[in-house]
Amino acid sequence: MLALQLLDSQLDALEGRRRRLPERAAVEAAAAAHATHAAERTRLEAVIAEAGAAIESAERAGVELDTKRARLEAQLKTVIAPREAEALMSEINGLAAKHGELDDGELEAMERQADAESALAALADAEPALLDAVATATAALQAAEAELDAEVADVRARRVDADAALGDAERATYTSLRQRYGGVGIAQLDRRSCTGCHVDLSPMELDQVKSTPAGEIAECPNCSRLLVV
Ligand SMILES: [Zn+2]
Repeated sequence: MLALQLLDSQLDALEGRRRRLPERAAVEAAAAAHATHAAERTRLEAVIAEAGAAIESAERAGVELDTKRARLEAQLKTVIAPREAEALMSEINGLAAKHGELDDGELEAMERQADAESALAALADAEPALLDAVATATAALQAAEAELDAEVADVRARRVDADAALGDAERATYTSLRQRYGGVGIAQLDRRSCTGCHVDLSPMELDQVKSTPAGEIAECPNCSRLLVV
């Protein structure tokens, strides 16, 4: 039973190592860096699209203003009454002012778009390195996992032998103890302490444990795990 316990504990430790592999954290960090990059690209693409739409709508509105203005200017040539001419002039000036505002807005949108486009180009340049980092980290993780897999396979093969050496009753006892004590059902006496609960036994408890008749297994007086002396 102790042999089986030691092998199972080894398997548990290997699984723990698998979960805590630094290579896994490195893959996650590299993937997160690439995700940040992708999110920034999406944001810049949205800026470019928004600026493009603003430019288009400013252009359309500008054409409308130009048409209106041409009509008013033609009208102005036919008008004789000074008051009417004045009113037309002021309307034309109003249109020109509006056109100026439109042009300013369009220029701003073009600047936004150009800035976003150069930022996007810089991002595109940075992407291969990020993808390389993900690929390198992933390969390192796979190598580390393959190493663990080999170790696990080796321990499992030894576990088959240890399991075959147990009788049915022993196997049942072992299984239920392992479940009950969260993995370690069979502990060892390590000098004065139990490897299950790591509590030191008193000299009297130590005497009792050590005087367990041959063929029987003692129990830890603290945690009740089977205690192999
Ligand atoms: Zn104990």
